[in-house]
Amino acid sequence: MTYRPTIGLEIHAELSTQTKMFCNSANNLDEAPPNTNICPVCLAHPGTLPFINREAVKHVLRVGVALGGTLADYSEFDRKSYFYPDIPKGYQISQYAYPLVSGGSLADIDITRVHLEEDTARSTHQSPGKDDTEGRSLLDFNRAGIPLMELVTEPVIHDAETAGKFARELQLLLRTLGVSKANLEKGEMRIEANISISKTDSFGTKVEVKNLNSFRSVERAIAYEAKRQEALIESGGSVVQETRGWHEGRQETFSQRLKEGSADYRYFPDPDLPKLILSEIPEFAPEVLVASLPELPWERRARYIKEYGIKDVDAIYISADADRVIFFDAVTKILSDVALIRLAVNYIVTDLAGIYAKKGSEEFTALDANAFVELMRMITKGDLSSRGAKDTLALLVEEGGDPETLAKKHGLIQVSDPVALEKTIATVIAAEPKAVAEYRSGKEAALQFLLGKAMKESHGAGNPQQLRELFIKEIS
Ligand code: ADP
Ligand code: MG
Repeated sequence: MTYRPTIGLEIHAELSTQTKMFCNSANNLDEAPPNTNICPVCLAHPGTLPFINREAVKHVLRVGVALGGTLADYSEFDRKSYFYPDIPKGYQISQYAYPLVSGGSLADIDITRVHLEEDTARSTHQSPGKDDTEGRSLLDFNRAGIPLMELVTEPVIHDAETAGKFARELQLLLRTLGVSKANLEKGEMRIEANISISKTDSFGTKVEVKNLNSFRSVERAIAYEAKRQEALIESGGSVVQETRGWHEGRQETFSQRLKEGSADYRYFPDPDLPKLILSEIPEFAPEVLVASLPELPWERRARYIKEYGIKDVDAIYISADADRVIFFDAVTKILSDVALIRLAVNYIVTDLAGIYAKKGSEEFTALDANAFVELMRMITKGDLSSRGAKDTLALLVEEGGDPETLAKKHGLIQVSDPVALEKTIATVIAAEPKAVAEYRSGKEAALQFLLGKAMKESHGAGNPQQLRELFIKEIS
Protein backbone atom coordinates (compact mmCIF):
# COMPACT_ATOMS: atom_id res chain seq x y z
CA MET A 1 0.00 0.00 0.00
CA THR A 2 1.19 3.49 -0.75
CA TYR A 3 1.18 6.47 1.60
CA ARG A 4 -1.92 8.59 1.68
CA PRO A 5 -1.48 12.32 2.31
CA THR A 6 -3.77 14.15 4.73
CA ILE A 7 -4.11 17.89 4.60
CA GLY A 8 -5.79 20.49 6.83
CA LEU A 9 -5.77 24.18 5.94
CA GLU A 10 -5.52 27.25 8.13
CA ILE A 11 -6.46 30.37 6.20
CA HIS A 12 -6.23 33.98 7.38
CA ALA A 13 -8.01 36.84 5.66
CA GLU A 14 -7.75 40.56 6.37
CA LEU A 15 -11.25 41.92 6.70
CA SER A 16 -12.43 45.01 4.85
CA THR A 17 -13.65 47.36 7.56
CA GLN A 18 -13.57 51.11 8.08
CA THR A 19 -11.44 50.88 11.19
CA LYS A 20 -9.16 48.38 12.90
CA MET A 21 -10.20 45.49 15.13
CA PHE A 22 -9.75 47.12 18.51
CA CYS A 23 -9.33 50.87 17.85
CA ASN A 24 -10.40 53.69 15.56
CA SER A 25 -7.31 53.77 13.34
CA ALA A 26 -8.13 53.46 9.64
CA ASN A 27 -8.01 50.03 8.07
CA ASN A 28 -6.44 50.76 4.71
CA LEU A 29 -3.11 49.45 3.59
CA ASP A 30 -3.11 50.58 -0.01
CA GLU A 31 -2.78 54.32 0.28
CA ALA A 32 -1.12 55.15 3.55
CA PRO A 33 2.64 55.75 3.99
CA PRO A 34 4.16 53.50 6.70
CA ASN A 35 3.18 54.15 10.30
CA THR A 36 0.41 56.67 9.62
CA ASN A 37 -2.76 54.64 10.36
CA ILE A 38 -1.80 54.24 13.98
CA CYS A 39 -2.85 55.20 17.49
CA PRO A 40 -1.76 54.35 21.03
CA VAL A 41 -3.97 51.22 21.04
CA CYS A 42 -2.53 49.56 17.91
CA LEU A 43 0.96 50.72 18.88
CA ALA A 44 0.43 48.77 22.11
CA HIS A 45 1.11 51.62 24.47
CA PRO A 46 0.76 50.48 28.08
CA GLY A 47 -2.52 51.37 29.74
CA THR A 48 -4.55 51.74 26.54
CA LEU A 49 -7.84 49.90 26.20
CA PRO A 50 -9.12 48.02 23.17
CA PHE A 51 -12.77 47.89 22.06
CA ILE A 52 -14.45 45.45 19.67
CA ASN A 53 -15.19 46.32 16.03
CA ARG A 54 -18.82 45.38 15.37
CA GLU A 55 -18.37 45.36 11.56
CA ALA A 56 -15.56 42.78 11.82
CA VAL A 57 -17.66 40.50 14.04
CA LYS A 58 -20.53 40.78 11.56
CA HIS A 59 -18.25 39.88 8.63
CA VAL A 60 -17.17 36.66 10.33
CA LEU A 61 -20.73 35.78 11.29
CA ARG A 62 -21.88 36.29 7.68
CA VAL A 63 -19.11 33.95 6.53
CA GLY A 64 -20.35 31.54 9.19
CA VAL A 65 -23.93 31.45 7.96
CA ALA A 66 -22.77 31.16 4.33
CA LEU A 67 -20.77 28.07 5.35
CA GLY A 68 -23.72 26.62 7.25
CA GLY A 69 -21.73 26.75 10.48
CA THR A 70 -23.01 27.21 14.02
CA LEU A 71 -22.79 30.75 15.35
CA ALA A 72 -21.60 31.09 18.91
CA ASP A 73 -24.11 32.08 21.51
CA TYR A 74 -21.31 33.12 23.78
CA SER A 75 -17.90 34.26 22.59
CA GLU A 76 -14.82 35.92 24.00
CA PHE A 77 -11.36 37.07 23.04
CA ASP A 78 -8.17 35.57 24.42
CA ARG A 79 -4.59 36.67 24.72
CA LYS A 80 -2.13 34.50 22.83
CA SER A 81 1.25 35.24 24.36
CA TYR A 82 4.46 35.23 22.41
CA PHE A 83 7.39 37.53 21.90
CA TYR A 84 8.12 39.09 18.56
CA PRO A 85 8.79 42.73 17.60
CA ASP A 86 5.73 42.85 15.35
CA ILE A 87 3.47 42.47 18.41
CA PRO A 88 4.93 44.69 21.15
CA LYS A 89 2.12 43.96 23.65
CA GLY A 90 3.70 40.50 24.01
CA TYR A 91 0.41 38.89 23.02
CA GLN A 92 -1.99 38.82 20.11
CA ILE A 93 -5.70 39.21 20.80
CA SER A 94 -7.29 36.12 19.28
CA GLN A 95 -9.98 33.57 20.12
CA TYR A 96 -9.34 30.17 21.61
CA ALA A 97 -12.08 28.32 23.46
CA TYR A 98 -15.07 30.24 22.06
CA PRO A 99 -14.69 30.95 18.33
CA LEU A 100 -17.45 32.96 16.64
CA VAL A 101 -18.24 30.09 14.27
CA SER A 102 -17.96 26.29 14.62
CA GLY A 103 -18.53 23.67 11.94
CA GLY A 104 -19.95 24.21 8.48
CA SER A 105 -18.51 23.19 5.15
CA LEU A 106 -17.28 24.60 1.87
CA ALA A 107 -16.70 22.71 -1.38
CA ASP A 108 -17.45 19.47 0.49
CA ILE A 109 -14.68 20.10 3.04
CA ASP A 110 -15.62 20.20 6.72
CA ILE A 111 -14.71 23.32 8.61
CA THR A 112 -13.55 23.19 12.20
CA ARG A 113 -13.94 26.83 13.17
CA VAL A 114 -13.77 30.45 12.09
CA HIS A 115 -12.53 33.02 14.55
CA LEU A 116 -11.42 36.62 14.74
CA GLU A 117 -8.08 38.06 15.77
CA GLU A 118 -5.84 41.05 15.09
CA ASP A 119 -3.09 41.29 12.49
CA THR A 120 0.46 42.14 13.54
CA ALA A 121 2.76 44.89 12.28
CA ARG A 122 4.50 44.19 8.98
CA SER A 123 8.20 43.59 9.38
CA THR A 124 10.69 44.07 6.58
CA HIS A 125 14.13 42.61 7.08
CA GLN A 126 16.75 44.45 5.11
CA SER A 127 19.37 42.30 3.55
CA PRO A 128 22.98 42.95 4.53
CA GLY A 129 24.08 46.09 2.66
CA LYS A 130 27.01 48.40 2.43
CA ASP A 131 25.74 51.25 4.59
CA ASP A 132 24.31 51.62 8.08
CA THR A 133 21.00 50.00 7.10
CA GLU A 134 22.78 46.65 7.12
CA GLY A 135 20.69 43.89 8.66
CA ARG A 136 18.03 46.23 10.04
CA SER A 137 14.43 45.25 10.49
CA LEU A 138 11.71 47.80 9.81
CA LEU A 139 8.21 47.73 11.28
CA ASP A 140 5.08 49.21 9.75
CA PHE A 141 2.20 49.42 12.22
CA ASN A 142 -0.41 50.29 9.61
CA ARG A 143 -1.15 46.58 9.52
CA ALA A 144 -1.10 46.13 13.29
CA GLY A 145 -4.62 45.60 14.58
CA ILE A 146 -6.30 45.04 11.24
CA PRO A 147 -9.10 42.51 11.75
CA LEU A 148 -8.03 39.06 10.69
CA MET A 149 -10.38 36.16 10.17
CA GLU A 150 -8.92 32.69 10.66
CA LEU A 151 -10.64 29.65 9.18
CA VAL A 152 -9.47 26.15 10.05
CA THR A 153 -10.50 23.01 8.15
CA GLU A 154 -10.67 19.48 9.48
CA PRO A 155 -7.89 17.16 8.27
CA VAL A 156 -10.11 15.72 5.54
CA ILE A 157 -8.32 16.75 2.35
CA HIS A 158 -6.23 14.08 0.65
CA ASP A 159 -4.74 15.70 -2.41
CA ALA A 160 -3.18 18.99 -3.47
CA GLU A 161 -5.77 19.74 -6.11
CA THR A 162 -8.69 19.58 -3.66
CA ALA A 163 -6.81 21.87 -1.28
CA GLY A 164 -6.31 24.38 -4.11
CA LYS A 165 -9.95 24.14 -5.09
CA PHE A 166 -11.08 24.79 -1.51
CA ALA A 167 -8.83 27.84 -1.18
CA ARG A 168 -10.10 29.29 -4.48
CA GLU A 169 -13.69 28.77 -3.44
CA LEU A 170 -13.05 30.49 -0.12
CA GLN A 171 -11.47 33.47 -1.89
CA LEU A 172 -14.52 33.68 -4.13
CA LEU A 173 -16.87 33.51 -1.14
CA LEU A 174 -15.01 36.23 0.78
CA ARG A 175 -15.11 38.49 -2.27
CA THR A 176 -18.77 37.73 -2.98
CA LEU A 177 -19.66 38.62 0.62
CA GLY A 178 -17.50 41.75 0.41
CA VAL A 179 -15.74 40.84 3.64
CA SER A 180 -12.19 40.74 2.26
CA LYS A 181 -10.36 41.58 -0.95
CA ALA A 182 -8.53 38.31 -0.36
CA ASN A 183 -5.59 38.86 -2.72
CA LEU A 184 -2.91 36.28 -2.03
CA GLU A 185 -0.06 38.35 -3.48
CA LYS A 186 -0.91 41.25 -1.18
CA GLY A 187 -1.14 39.03 1.89
CA GLU A 188 -4.83 39.84 2.27
CA MET A 189 -5.40 36.09 2.27
CA ARG A 190 -2.72 33.78 3.69
CA ILE A 191 -2.84 30.03 3.42
CA GLU A 192 -1.04 27.57 5.64
CA ALA A 193 -1.15 23.89 4.79
CA ASN A 194 -0.73 21.11 7.37
CA ILE A 195 0.43 17.91 5.75
CA SER A 196 1.05 14.40 6.98
CA ILE A 197 1.21 11.02 5.29
CA SER A 198 0.24 7.58 6.50
CA LYS A 199 -0.27 4.02 5.32
CA THR A 200 -2.80 3.27 8.03
CA ASP A 201 -6.01 4.83 9.34
CA SER A 202 -4.16 6.81 11.99
CA PHE A 203 -2.51 10.07 10.99
CA GLY A 204 1.20 10.62 10.65
CA THR A 205 3.08 13.57 12.17
CA LYS A 206 2.07 16.80 10.47
CA VAL A 207 4.22 19.55 9.08
CA GLU A 208 2.93 23.08 8.63
CA VAL A 209 3.92 24.93 5.43
CA LYS A 210 3.85 28.74 5.19
CA ASN A 211 4.74 31.46 2.64
CA LEU A 212 2.26 30.21 0.09
CA ASN A 213 1.62 33.27 -2.05
CA SER A 214 -0.44 31.75 -4.83
CA PHE A 215 -2.88 28.90 -5.29
CA ARG A 216 -0.31 27.20 -7.46
CA SER A 217 2.23 27.37 -4.63
CA VAL A 218 -0.32 25.80 -2.30
CA GLU A 219 -0.74 22.87 -4.67
CA ARG A 220 2.94 22.48 -5.44
CA ALA A 221 4.04 22.77 -1.82
CA ILE A 222 1.57 20.08 -0.74
CA ALA A 223 2.65 17.72 -3.50
CA TYR A 224 6.33 18.38 -2.74
CA GLU A 225 5.90 17.93 1.00
CA ALA A 226 4.01 14.63 0.66
CA LYS A 227 6.86 13.30 -1.50
CA ARG A 228 9.54 14.61 0.85
CA GLN A 229 7.91 12.91 3.84
CA GLU A 230 7.56 9.65 1.94
CA ALA A 231 11.22 9.64 0.92
CA LEU A 232 12.21 10.47 4.50
CA ILE A 233 10.20 7.60 5.98
CA GLU A 234 11.27 5.16 3.27
CA SER A 235 14.91 5.92 3.98
CA GLY A 236 14.41 5.07 7.68
CA GLY A 237 13.90 8.58 9.00
CA SER A 238 10.84 10.08 10.64
CA VAL A 239 8.88 13.28 10.16
CA VAL A 240 9.32 15.94 12.84
CA GLN A 241 6.51 18.32 13.72
CA GLU A 242 7.74 21.66 12.46
CA THR A 243 6.94 24.77 10.46
CA ARG A 244 8.42 24.84 7.00
CA GLY A 245 8.56 27.64 4.43
CA TRP A 246 7.97 27.34 0.71
CA HIS A 247 10.89 28.46 -1.44
CA GLU A 248 9.30 29.68 -4.65
CA GLY A 249 12.56 29.82 -6.61
CA ARG A 250 13.68 26.31 -5.68
CA GLN A 251 10.12 24.92 -5.58
CA GLU A 252 10.79 23.15 -2.30
CA THR A 253 9.97 23.44 1.38
CA PHE A 254 12.61 24.22 4.00
CA SER A 255 12.65 23.97 7.78
CA GLN A 256 11.90 27.24 9.63
CA ARG A 257 11.27 26.31 13.25
CA LEU A 258 9.98 23.57 15.48
CA LYS A 259 6.28 23.96 16.20
CA GLU A 260 5.15 25.46 19.53
CA GLY A 261 2.48 23.57 21.42
CA SER A 262 -0.59 25.63 22.36
CA ALA A 263 0.51 25.44 26.01
CA ASP A 264 3.41 27.74 25.14
CA TYR A 265 0.98 30.51 24.18
CA ARG A 266 -0.65 30.53 27.64
CA TYR A 267 -4.04 31.53 26.22
CA PHE A 268 -6.37 33.24 28.69
CA PRO A 269 -9.45 35.49 28.30
CA ASP A 270 -8.54 39.13 27.71
CA PRO A 271 -9.78 41.02 30.79
CA ASP A 272 -9.89 44.32 28.87
CA LEU A 273 -12.65 43.20 26.48
CA PRO A 274 -16.32 42.51 27.21
CA LYS A 275 -17.74 39.02 26.69
CA LEU A 276 -20.03 38.68 23.70
CA ILE A 277 -23.54 37.36 24.26
CA LEU A 278 -24.27 37.24 20.54
CA SER A 279 -27.85 36.08 20.82
CA GLU A 280 -28.70 39.37 22.54
CA ILE A 281 -27.58 41.46 19.59
CA PRO A 282 -30.49 41.68 17.08
CA GLU A 283 -28.37 42.38 13.98
CA PHE A 284 -26.39 39.18 14.66
CA ALA A 285 -29.45 36.94 14.68
CA PRO A 286 -28.89 34.08 12.17
CA GLU A 287 -32.05 34.88 10.18
CA VAL A 288 -31.01 38.53 9.87
CA LEU A 289 -27.54 37.50 8.68
CA VAL A 290 -28.94 34.96 6.21
CA ALA A 291 -31.24 37.62 4.77
CA SER A 292 -28.18 39.85 4.19
CA LEU A 293 -26.38 37.28 2.02
CA PRO A 294 -26.01 37.92 -1.72
CA GLU A 295 -26.25 35.07 -4.24
CA LEU A 296 -23.43 32.74 -3.17
CA PRO A 297 -20.91 31.34 -5.68
CA TRP A 298 -22.34 27.82 -5.72
CA GLU A 299 -25.88 29.18 -5.99
CA ARG A 300 -24.89 31.33 -8.94
CA ARG A 301 -23.22 28.41 -10.73
CA ALA A 302 -26.28 26.23 -10.20
CA ARG A 303 -28.51 28.99 -11.57
CA TYR A 304 -26.39 29.48 -14.69
CA ILE A 305 -26.42 25.76 -15.36
CA LYS A 306 -30.17 25.46 -14.81
CA GLU A 307 -31.30 28.62 -16.57
CA TYR A 308 -29.00 28.54 -19.57
CA GLY A 309 -28.10 24.87 -19.79
CA ILE A 310 -24.38 25.68 -19.89
CA LYS A 311 -21.59 23.30 -18.94
CA ASP A 312 -20.23 23.03 -15.37
CA VAL A 313 -16.76 24.18 -16.42
CA ASP A 314 -18.22 27.22 -18.17
CA ALA A 315 -20.34 28.17 -15.16
CA ILE A 316 -17.24 27.78 -12.98
CA TYR A 317 -15.17 29.98 -15.29
CA ILE A 318 -17.69 32.81 -15.40
CA SER A 319 -18.52 32.71 -11.67
CA ALA A 320 -14.88 32.71 -10.63
CA ASP A 321 -14.48 36.47 -11.03
CA ALA A 322 -16.69 39.46 -10.20
CA ASP A 323 -15.99 41.29 -13.48
CA ARG A 324 -16.83 38.20 -15.53
CA VAL A 325 -20.10 37.91 -13.63
CA ILE A 326 -20.98 41.57 -14.22
CA PHE A 327 -20.23 41.21 -17.93
CA PHE A 328 -22.14 37.96 -18.34
CA ASP A 329 -25.13 39.26 -16.39
CA ALA A 330 -25.20 42.30 -18.69
CA VAL A 331 -25.19 39.98 -21.71
CA THR A 332 -28.02 37.82 -20.37
CA LYS A 333 -30.00 40.94 -19.58
CA ILE A 334 -29.94 41.92 -23.26
CA LEU A 335 -30.49 38.41 -24.64
CA SER A 336 -33.58 36.34 -23.98
CA ASP A 337 -32.78 33.60 -26.50
CA VAL A 338 -31.04 30.74 -24.67
CA ALA A 339 -29.31 29.51 -27.84
CA LEU A 340 -27.73 32.94 -28.29
CA ILE A 341 -26.73 33.02 -24.61
CA ARG A 342 -24.98 29.68 -25.09
CA LEU A 343 -23.21 31.00 -28.17
CA ALA A 344 -22.14 34.00 -26.08
CA VAL A 345 -20.85 31.66 -23.38
CA ASN A 346 -18.77 29.79 -25.95
CA TYR A 347 -17.21 33.01 -27.14
CA ILE A 348 -16.59 34.19 -23.56
CA VAL A 349 -14.91 31.02 -22.30
CA THR A 350 -12.85 30.27 -25.41
CA ASP A 351 -12.17 33.28 -27.64
CA LEU A 352 -12.46 36.10 -25.14
CA ALA A 353 -10.62 34.16 -22.44
CA GLY A 354 -7.91 33.41 -25.03
CA ILE A 355 -7.57 37.05 -26.05
CA TYR A 356 -7.24 38.16 -22.42
CA ALA A 357 -4.79 35.37 -21.64
CA LYS A 358 -2.61 36.58 -24.51
CA LYS A 359 -2.86 40.17 -23.28
CA GLY A 360 -1.99 39.06 -19.76
CA SER A 361 -4.95 40.90 -18.25
CA GLU A 362 -8.71 40.56 -18.22
CA GLU A 363 -10.72 43.61 -19.20
CA PHE A 364 -14.31 42.46 -19.03
CA THR A 365 -15.35 45.81 -17.56
CA ALA A 366 -13.97 47.63 -20.61
CA LEU A 367 -15.94 45.53 -23.08
CA ASP A 368 -19.37 46.84 -24.11
CA ALA A 369 -21.93 44.06 -23.60
CA ASN A 370 -24.20 45.56 -26.27
CA ALA A 371 -21.46 45.44 -28.91
CA PHE A 372 -20.56 41.89 -27.90
CA VAL A 373 -24.21 40.83 -28.23
CA GLU A 374 -24.36 42.52 -31.65
CA LEU A 375 -21.38 40.41 -32.68
CA MET A 376 -23.21 37.24 -31.56
CA ARG A 377 -26.20 38.25 -33.72
CA MET A 378 -23.93 38.80 -36.74
CA ILE A 379 -22.56 35.29 -36.29
CA THR A 380 -25.99 33.65 -36.21
CA LYS A 381 -27.05 35.64 -39.28
CA GLY A 382 -24.05 34.25 -41.15
CA ASP A 383 -22.45 37.66 -41.58
CA LEU A 384 -19.23 36.39 -40.05
CA SER A 385 -17.38 33.12 -40.37
CA SER A 386 -15.98 31.73 -37.14
CA ARG A 387 -12.57 33.02 -38.19
CA GLY A 388 -14.05 36.44 -38.99
CA ALA A 389 -15.90 36.44 -35.66
CA LYS A 390 -12.69 35.73 -33.75
CA ASP A 391 -10.89 38.54 -35.55
CA THR A 392 -13.76 40.99 -35.06
CA LEU A 393 -13.88 40.13 -31.36
CA ALA A 394 -10.15 40.80 -31.04
CA LEU A 395 -10.66 44.16 -32.76
CA LEU A 396 -13.58 44.94 -30.48
CA VAL A 397 -11.39 44.31 -27.44
CA GLU A 398 -8.59 46.48 -28.85
CA GLU A 399 -10.54 49.33 -30.41
CA GLY A 400 -14.09 49.17 -29.07
CA GLY A 401 -16.93 50.53 -31.19
CA ASP A 402 -19.48 48.78 -33.33
CA PRO A 403 -18.72 45.23 -34.54
CA GLU A 404 -20.35 45.65 -37.96
CA THR A 405 -18.34 48.80 -38.72
CA LEU A 406 -15.18 47.07 -37.49
CA ALA A 407 -15.79 43.94 -39.56
CA LYS A 408 -16.50 45.99 -42.68
CA LYS A 409 -13.46 48.18 -42.19
CA HIS A 410 -11.21 45.13 -41.96
CA GLY A 411 -12.91 43.17 -44.74
CA LEU A 412 -14.17 40.47 -42.39
CA ILE A 413 -17.81 40.35 -43.44
CA GLN A 414 -18.48 36.86 -44.74
CA VAL A 415 -19.13 36.62 -48.48
CA SER A 416 -22.20 34.50 -49.15
CA ASP A 417 -22.89 35.93 -52.57
CA PRO A 418 -22.89 32.86 -54.96
CA VAL A 419 -21.55 34.82 -57.92
CA ALA A 420 -18.53 36.01 -55.94
CA LEU A 421 -17.93 32.57 -54.46
CA GLU A 422 -18.14 30.85 -57.87
CA LYS A 423 -15.50 33.22 -59.15
CA THR A 424 -13.25 32.30 -56.23
CA ILE A 425 -13.77 28.61 -56.89
CA ALA A 426 -13.03 28.92 -60.58
CA THR A 427 -9.73 30.60 -59.75
CA VAL A 428 -8.74 27.83 -57.32
CA ILE A 429 -9.77 25.01 -59.67
CA ALA A 430 -7.68 26.53 -62.46
CA ALA A 431 -4.67 26.94 -60.14
CA GLU A 432 -4.84 23.48 -58.50
CA PRO A 433 -5.44 20.86 -61.21
CA LYS A 434 -3.55 18.21 -59.23
CA ALA A 435 -5.76 18.51 -56.15
CA VAL A 436 -8.84 18.51 -58.35
CA ALA A 437 -7.71 15.28 -60.00
CA GLU A 438 -6.96 13.72 -56.61
CA TYR A 439 -10.40 14.60 -55.32
CA ARG A 440 -11.98 13.09 -58.43
CA SER A 441 -10.02 9.88 -57.86
CA GLY A 442 -11.62 9.60 -54.40
CA LYS A 443 -9.18 11.41 -52.12
CA GLU A 444 -11.42 13.30 -49.64
CA ALA A 445 -8.52 15.20 -48.11
CA ALA A 446 -8.00 17.05 -51.37
CA LEU A 447 -11.30 18.85 -50.87
CA GLN A 448 -10.09 20.23 -47.56
CA PHE A 449 -6.96 21.47 -49.31
CA LEU A 450 -8.99 23.19 -52.02
CA LEU A 451 -11.25 24.75 -49.40
CA GLY A 452 -8.22 26.13 -47.62
CA LYS A 453 -7.02 27.67 -50.87
CA ALA A 454 -10.45 29.18 -51.50
CA MET A 455 -10.56 30.70 -47.99
CA LYS A 456 -7.16 32.20 -48.65
CA GLU A 457 -8.26 33.48 -52.05
CA SER A 458 -11.27 35.17 -50.39
CA HIS A 459 -9.05 36.59 -47.63
CA GLY A 460 -10.93 34.50 -45.08
CA ALA A 461 -14.25 36.08 -45.99
CA GLY A 462 -15.81 33.23 -47.99
CA ASN A 463 -18.63 31.31 -46.35
CA PRO A 464 -16.92 27.90 -45.87
CA GLN A 465 -20.16 25.93 -45.90
CA GLN A 466 -21.19 27.43 -49.23
CA LEU A 467 -17.71 27.08 -50.71
CA ARG A 468 -17.69 23.40 -49.82
CA GLU A 469 -21.06 22.82 -51.51
CA LEU A 470 -20.00 24.73 -54.62
CA PHE A 471 -16.75 22.74 -54.91
CA ILE A 472 -18.59 19.43 -54.68
CA LYS A 473 -21.09 20.55 -57.29
CA GLU A 474 -18.34 21.81 -59.56
CA ILE A 475 -15.78 18.99 -59.53
CA SER A 476 -17.61 15.79 -58.56
P1 ADP B 1 -2.26 22.36 16.32
O1 ADP B 1 -2.75 22.14 17.70
O2 ADP B 1 -0.90 21.85 16.05
O3 ADP B 1 -2.49 23.75 15.84
P2 ADP B 1 -4.74 21.49 15.22
O4 ADP B 1 -5.33 20.21 15.67
O5 ADP B 1 -5.27 22.74 15.77
O6 ADP B 1 -3.17 21.42 15.42
O7 ADP B 1 -4.86 21.52 13.64
C1 ADP B 1 -4.32 22.55 12.90
C2 ADP B 1 -4.55 22.21 11.44
O8 ADP B 1 -3.84 21.04 11.10
C3 ADP B 1 -6.00 21.94 11.07
O9 ADP B 1 -6.24 22.49 9.79
C4 ADP B 1 -6.07 20.43 11.02
O10 ADP B 1 -7.05 20.01 10.09
C5 ADP B 1 -4.70 20.08 10.54
N1 ADP B 1 -4.24 18.77 11.00
C6 ADP B 1 -4.34 18.25 12.24
N2 ADP B 1 -3.76 17.04 12.29
C7 ADP B 1 -3.28 16.78 11.04
C8 ADP B 1 -2.57 15.70 10.44
N3 ADP B 1 -2.19 14.64 11.14
N4 ADP B 1 -2.26 15.80 9.14
C9 ADP B 1 -2.59 16.87 8.43
N5 ADP B 1 -3.25 17.91 8.92
C10 ADP B 1 -3.59 17.88 10.22
MG1 MG C 1 -4.45 24.77 16.44
